[in-house]
Amino acid sequence: MISHSPETRWETEIARRLEQGQGLEFSRAQFAQAVDSQADDSTLLAFLDSLVNSARARRIEAYRCPMRACGKMLPAGADGTSCPYCHSDYKEQGEAPIAEHFYRLNGEISRDIRWVIVIHGMNSRAKWQEEFSWEIANRLSYSAPVLIYKYGWATIDVLARWMHRRLARNLGERIRIAIRQAEKSHRPTAPDIVVHSFGSHLLSLVLQNPAFDDLRFGRIITAASIVRPDFDWDRHIACGRIEAILNHVGDKDRAVPFAQFFIPGAGPGGRAGYLAKSTLNVRTESFGHSGFFIAENLRVLISREGLWHGFLTRPLAHFHPEGAFTPKPDWKRAPLPLRCVARLLAWTIFCALAPLSWLRRRLDP
Ligand SMILES: [Zn+2]
Repeated sequence: MISHSPETRWETEIARRLEQGQGLEFSRAQFAQAVDSQADDSTLLAFLDSLVNSARARRIEAYRCPMRACGKMLPAGADGTSCPYCHSDYKEQGEAPIAEHFYRLNGEISRDIRWVIVIHGMNSRAKWQEEFSWEIANRLSYSAPVLIYKYGWATIDVLARWMHRRLARNLGERIRIAIRQAEKSHRPTAPDIVVHSFGSHLLSLVLQNPAFDDLRFGRIITAASIVRPDFDWDRHIACGRIEAILNHVGDKDRAVPFAQFFIPGAGPGGRAGYLAKSTLNVRTESFGHSGFFIAENLRVLISREGLWHGFLTRPLAHFHPEGAFTPKPDWKRAPLPLRCVARLLAWTIFCALAPLSWLRRRLDP
C-alpha cells in the first residue's frame, strides 16, 4: 500500500464524511482515533483549525461532566453547577466542567429512505419486482415499505394517448391513497419513487395533471426512461414538489430510442439524458433496457455502496457518481413526417389488435 502524508489521509476522511453525510460532528480526540493519529499532534490541530478558518467547519464549544464515573457531554445551556445525568453537584465538590472543542463540518447529514413506490414498465409480471422488494427489505438495515404499483398488462395500450391519461389518472389516485395511509401511520408524506420505462411516462403525466398538484415526492429514480429529454423537471424541483431526480441510463438500451415513434408524448430521456439542470444523469455502459433489474445488477445498485442506495440516502451536494454526464443541449424530436408514419403504423396495430387485447383482458385479468 502507498503511504500517504497524514494531511492527505485527514483530507480523505473529511471528504468521506461529507460524501456519506455521517460523522459530521466530532471532537479532536474522536477524529484522531478515526484517522489513527495522536490527538495532541500539533499538525492535526492546525489541520482542524484550517477547516474552521476556511469556513468548511464550525467550532463548537462544549462541556463535559467532570465526575470521572460519568464524563457525559453536558447539554448546551446547563447551569454549570450540576450534571443532569449523574445528578452530582460538581460545583459543590470543587470541580468545574471540562471544556472540549467539537468540530461540525458544514454538510448535510445523510437521509433515510422513506418508503418507495415502484412503477414498472409494460410487463407487469416481470420477476424483478419480487426481487426488488426482497432485496430492498433485506439489504437495507431499516425497513422501508415498498409499494409496487400494478397497472395490469399494458401492451397495445401504450400506443394510444387517451389510454395513457386513464392509466396516469389511476396511478395518481393510487399514489394519493398511499400518501394518506403514510400520513395516518406518521410516515413522511413524500415517497421516494423508482420508475422504469413506460412507468416514467405515466409519472410525468401525473406531474403535469393539475388534479394531482397536491402530491409531493422525495427522490425519484427513473431507469430506462421514455420521458422527453426536455421535460421540465426543474420547475418541479424548484417549487419543492420533487426533492431530486436521478436519471439512470443504460448505454445499450435499444428500446428507449424508439419510444418517441410509437408512444405519443414520449422521448428518449433514458438514452439522451434530461436537459433540466437540476437533474442527475448517470450512464451505465453495460446496461440494456432491463439491465437495471437483473438480479445481480439490482443487488449492486441497492447495496450500501450502490448508485441507487447512495442517491436515496446521501447528501447530494457531495454525490458525484461514476458515469455522471451532462447531455448535449441540442436535443430535438425526430422529424414530424417520420413520427407521423410511425403513429399511423401504431394506430393500425392498435385497431387490429384491440379486439384481441379486450378478449385477453376478459380471460386473464
Ligand atoms: Zn455527570
